[in-house]
Amino acid sequence: MLSGCRRALPAALRLAVRGWAGGGGRRRVSTSWSPVGAAFDAKQQRSRLTGQSTADFVKIAHPDFAFREAAEETCRNIGTMVEKLNTNIELCQSLKQLLADKEVMDSLDPETRQVAELFMFDFEISGIHLDEEKRKRAVDLNVKILDLCNQFLIGAHLPNKIDKQILPEHIRYNFAVEGNYIQITGLHADCSDDLVREAAYKIFLYPNAEQLRCLEELLTSRNHLAQLVGYNTFAHRALQGTMARTPEKVMQFLETLSDRLFQRTLKDFEMMEGMKMKLNPQNSKLMPWDHPYYSGVLRAERYNIEPSLYCPFFSLGACMEGLNFLFNQLLGISLYAEQTEKGELWCEDVRKLAVVHENEGLLGYIYCDFYQRADKPHQDCHFTIRGGRLRKDGEYQLPVVVLMLSLPHSTKNSPTLLTPGMMENLFHEMGHAMHSMLGRTRYQHVTGTRCPTDFAEVPSILMEYFASDYRVVNQFARHFQTGQSLPKSMVSRLCESKKICAAADMQLQVFYAVLDQLYHGEHPLKRSTTEILKETQEKFYGLPYVPKTAWQLRFSHLVGYGAKYYSYLMSRAIASMVWKQCFVQNPFDRAMGERYRREMLAHGGGKEPMLMVQGMLQKSPSVEDFVDALVSDLDQDFETFFMDSE
Ligand SMILES: [Zn+2]
Repeated sequence: MLSGCRRALPAALRLAVRGWAGGGGRRRVSTSWSPVGAAFDAKQQRSRLTGQSTADFVKIAHPDFAFREAAEETCRNIGTMVEKLNTNIELCQSLKQLLADKEVMDSLDPETRQVAELFMFDFEISGIHLDEEKRKRAVDLNVKILDLCNQFLIGAHLPNKIDKQILPEHIRYNFAVEGNYIQITGLHADCSDDLVREAAYKIFLYPNAEQLRCLEELLTSRNHLAQLVGYNTFAHRALQGTMARTPEKVMQFLETLSDRLFQRTLKDFEMMEGMKMKLNPQNSKLMPWDHPYYSGVLRAERYNIEPSLYCPFFSLGACMEGLNFLFNQLLGISLYAEQTEKGELWCEDVRKLAVVHENEGLLGYIYCDFYQRADKPHQDCHFTIRGGRLRKDGEYQLPVVVLMLSLPHSTKNSPTLLTPGMMENLFHEMGHAMHSMLGRTRYQHVTGTRCPTDFAEVPSILMEYFASDYRVVNQFARHFQTGQSLPKSMVSRLCESKKICAAADMQLQVFYAVLDQLYHGEHPLKRSTTEILKETQEKFYGLPYVPKTAWQLRFSHLVGYGAKYYSYLMSRAIASMVWKQCFVQNPFDRAMGERYRREMLAHGGGKEPMLMVQGMLQKSPSVEDFVDALVSDLDQDFETFFMDSE
């Protein structure tokens, strides 16, 4: 049991040392571990550190511009090096021979075979197995695609500007004015003025001819490359090795889900329209720019979930203690704040956690770069700094990761307090971190989160289910001043509020995912990207397409996810099944925690994702099972989950 968020130090140290001894005593024993909660709620301590991080992380998050610049250079060099290796004919030939030799292949362990196939896949896309002329075309296409991706990403975020006379005077102040022009930099989706949202939507999404050409060329080039290296479409290539495997399966999943959502989405739209009627009777037809705003209004009206009511119960230290308690119960793992050495940290407010198993000892390190600072991107993120792998000398190289959040600092009067959304994000990111910490793959290539995209979010989304369960929340949510527990009714209200308009929100994601599939499917496209958007929006979303808009030109995820935007929905479906089948009865079930570690977390990307799911659920789920899981989350009455457990 937890007694508040400041556990007695000696007990923590005893535990730590015992855990360590189990690890074989080979590693340096730290005498400086302290309880994880106290490390976060305590006043800022002064300490500094050394950078032992990878270029990718430094490039994005280092506080010093010179470091970021140098890291960018390093990233380019690494990219060039990898490209060289991926086009090395000798390497490719010997791998090909190995893959063709059945006797050798049979003698390898499954993970080694999997990694060999993944390497071959990387070779393939560079066109190395092709004759010289085709190989040259593949190289050219790869270069062209990279340029188009960068160009599309830049264009997706560029503002649109119009003559300010065109906008009614009384709404101009909502936007940046530049001389005679008004700059529209986004959708202003949360603005309470319907006219502002409408103007922003129509202007920000007004098609830009150059961006349109860029998208068309990107999609065509991707298709050419995929066909050149032997696939029907880009989607067929992108889905190799994923849980879904084929575009047909993805579409079956999305279409089934859409059918099941349809009636629920209609109801959500009716509710939103009712609210719009109430607030703006002259102009009450529900339009795409209304969805996020009116669903927010409904949520706020039905449930009093003002974040400031919740924040005092979620000090960062309390939340970290909650995670510590949960991992302890489920996996026998404790988190300890470890003192750092001079020069080890890139910013003095970063905390280093040792992840320690009760018998196995130290499993890895998590650097928590949690606080806001100038020039730090506002995105929650997990970075692999050093992957786990089996070394030649038989020792296991321990994983090291960074978790990056943008939390406010503590003040004179209070520790850092999290909104419910921030708390959920913290749990989500810790899910990624534990995936890294518990992976025990032989190779770094498939360590921890380096797994297929549609499996990667399973461990993190599963943590969101824990973060929404009263039995879990009740272990740690204490008022930072009074010590009072968060009332159960407030947790229920929060959970119920998330279901408001959740069908329509999911429907929107289905629409985006289908669009991504169609764009990366058969080419040449039968219609323009805008016509495809219009049709898909009508069929898979329901709110009308607005003439002279082209939302797809702002869909930056087409670059990074290309044909895999459905991944998040599929990961959520798996997480939901795992939660309901394995943890909802008892979220602290140690036997289930161990099974989860063994079947799902240990393999990284070294095992086929569907086999991991089967190992966990002890059956092979169908597309209908995926959809059932997602839809039942929208309907389920939260109270029934823990009614008799109080
Ligand atoms: Zn995530």
